[in-house]
Amino acid sequence: MIDELNYSLPSNLNDAYSQLQEIHRKPLAGATDIIPRLRRTKLPIDTLVDISRIREINFIREHETEIEIGALTTHSEITDSALLQSTAISLLEASASIGCQQTRNRGTLGGNIANASPAADTLPPLLTFDAVVHLGSLDGTREMPLSKFLLGPGKTGLAVGELIEFISFKKLNRYGLAYVKSGKRNGMSIAVASAAVAIALDDNGRIEDIRLALGSVASTALRCPRAEKILIGKPLTKTHFKKAGEIVYEDISPIDDVRASASYRRSVAAALVMQVLSIAEGRLN
Ligand SMILES: Cc1cc2nc3c(=O)[nH]c(=O)nc-3n(C[C@H](O)[C@H](O)[C@H](O)COP(=O)(O)OP(=O)(O)OC[C@H]3O[C@@H](n4cnc5c(N)ncnc54)[C@H](O)[C@@H]3O)c2cc1C
Repeated sequence: MIDELNYSLPSNLNDAYSQLQEIHRKPLAGATDIIPRLRRTKLPIDTLVDISRIREINFIREHETEIEIGALTTHSEITDSALLQSTAISLLEASASIGCQQTRNRGTLGGNIANASPAADTLPPLLTFDAVVHLGSLDGTREMPLSKFLLGPGKTGLAVGELIEFISFKKLNRYGLAYVKSGKRNGMSIAVASAAVAIALDDNGRIEDIRLALGSVASTALRCPRAEKILIGKPLTKTHFKKAGEIVYEDISPIDDVRASASYRRSVAAALVMQVLSIAEGRLN
């Protein structure tokens, strides 16, 4: 389905922004999503602007209270990062679960976010971090909470001419973090459902803060506010984990598709919630 396409290879952000000033020009990072899509479907694109050589947005940085990850950071770089191993293990688990090694070596965090697939693996952990998306364009920079950036399948708050430059999130030092996903064994493991959690306890061993997010169960990855609320102030018991799973079962709105039925997704999501809470509990300091 690929007709003739123009291609450009800017070496810095300003050149990229100049070349993205028109609605039919699209950025290309690792190309693991956009090229397969162009092969399947006719998309309204006449120029691919290859941003993969722009070093300014390929980094993992630690500040006193925050972590920043450049949009061009690949899933393999995330998986290999000792810093993220100790500060953002659930994101590392999500990146490690993506496709095969070749896909992880090329696919980027920015591409995974901009894709806005309900099944995108990095989104649930990033939602539990309250991550912020930092956008740039010729007009300057702006930031948006990830939860507001995701508008629907393939739809985001990106404007024409904008790129994701990096994402940031506050370090969650006292938290237990985890990500789990259920996918078809013989496929490239696109999630049937997925769950991430960040959980912190008070001095009495009760839940002081909990952020629970799910993937593949609605039109975007999303947080589960009712399940979070029911767990606040409670001790970590299997009974409460089960209750959270039951609420998730009621609250989500999955669809039937080739990978799974809606009712199967509901059951899997409820089970994943209990599993991810147990794993995070084991990681609390
Ligand atoms: C075999 C295979 C298996 C896969 N398995 C999984 C999986 O298990 N889980 C999963 O989540 N994904 C999976 N994917 C999808 C894909 O690999 C990931 O979403 C990857 O992170 C996309 O990143 P990319 O750099 O390759 O994006 P690209 O294909 O380069 O771009 C994807 C989209 O994002 C836009 N974009 C890219 N970078 C930016 C930026 N910085 N700013 C603004 N827009 C940008 C592009 O214009 C395009 O619309 C799989 C893909 C393949 C081919």
